[in-house]
Amino acid sequence: MLSQWSWLLFLLALAASTIMLEERALPKVPSASGVHVSPAEKAPQYFSAEEIARGRAYARGRYILVFVRLAVTLGLFALLTLTPLATKIRDLSVSLAGGRVWLTIAVFGLVLGLLYYAATFPLSLYGSFLREHTFGLSTQTFRSWAWDYAKQALISTGMMLPLLILLYALIRWSPERWYLPAWAVIVAVMALMTELSPILIDPLFHTFRPVQDPALVERIRTLTDRAGLRVGPVLEVDASRRTKKTNAYFTGLGGTRRVVLYDTLITTSTPEEVELVLAHELGHWRRHHIWKGIALGAASTLAALWLIARLLHVAAGSGRFGFIHPADVVSLPLMLLAFAVLNIGTMPIQVAISRTFEREADLESLRLTDNPEAFIASEVTLARANLADIQPPKAIVWFLYTHPPVLERIAMAEAYSGKEIQ
Ligand SMILES: [Zn+2]
Repeated sequence: MLSQWSWLLFLLALAASTIMLEERALPKVPSASGVHVSPAEKAPQYFSAEEIARGRAYARGRYILVFVRLAVTLGLFALLTLTPLATKIRDLSVSLAGGRVWLTIAVFGLVLGLLYYAATFPLSLYGSFLREHTFGLSTQTFRSWAWDYAKQALISTGMMLPLLILLYALIRWSPERWYLPAWAVIVAVMALMTELSPILIDPLFHTFRPVQDPALVERIRTLTDRAGLRVGPVLEVDASRRTKKTNAYFTGLGGTRRVVLYDTLITTSTPEEVELVLAHELGHWRRHHIWKGIALGAASTLAALWLIARLLHVAAGSGRFGFIHPADVVSLPLMLLAFAVLNIGTMPIQVAISRTFEREADLESLRLTDNPEAFIASEVTLARANLADIQPPKAIVWFLYTHPPVLERIAMAEAYSGKEIQ
């Protein structure tokens, strides 16, 4: 019992330290009167009351959807863990698989996958299709959306099933030590997918081509030279076929590293603003955020797998969860439930780390361009196009925000232009 509580205390301490780190990182910007104002109070300076209201209406519904999805996921795994349902699915899988162990696990995994998609489909349909149309953000037909959804589900299932079969083979091999080789496999797959998705998965959904506008290409080249980075291709993606939102991202590993700009970004932003967005992505590159992300993911996965291995051991011993050996596939819902709980419990830490990376990239972009006015302009353009929540509740930022809120980012640029941070 003591060890459970010490884990909880450890997580609470980590969460508390993320809050303290955040508070220290918040830029304090002097107003004209010399009185320090918090970033959130500067909203009317950059956004109209209507923009603030629209952003709030859009974002607040999204927060609710995130929490509903978490509740549905937890509820489904809890239902399977605490009722005889999983045992029934296992018995069905055994008879369908004709006694073949690997096939039993595959069928069981497939049924769980189907239940998961059945439970979350209404949320996906509403959140990523109907609601996007209500707010005038989506440009996608239902047919195109449904095809994307089906492809996504097929790819995820196709990748998860072999991993699941391997996982249970490892548990059978060593019910105590399976988490070590499982960890090695997961980390390898994580790194491999980072390297291969840009060339294998992403093209299944979008069309990429090098940035066309010669003036922009020239600007990009000057910027990357100044950054001293040997950059792979800077690509534009046909995001406008699906959305009016704008964005950019940095992805890939080794030979597949690339910066991708939404075509909507290029059409709605000035060249200076695009340059700032690109400089932000180069900032991620400069600070090795992809590698750091993989390293952090690897460390937390090891901790999670170790915990789950202990949990399965105890649960099998107790006999209260429908399995008496961890290698019985009935243990899968409990494993998924534990993963989900750990993921939700550590979410504030995960997003705090992400926000730190984003701040670093923002600062890099300011140093690289020395153009805080364009930085602010690009933040305003992005916030308008994406219906950002201009003044999000602090608790929501703490729990969900992978990026600092827009006014905080603007405040950083203001502080930079005041040469308060160098
Ligand atoms: Zn970023």
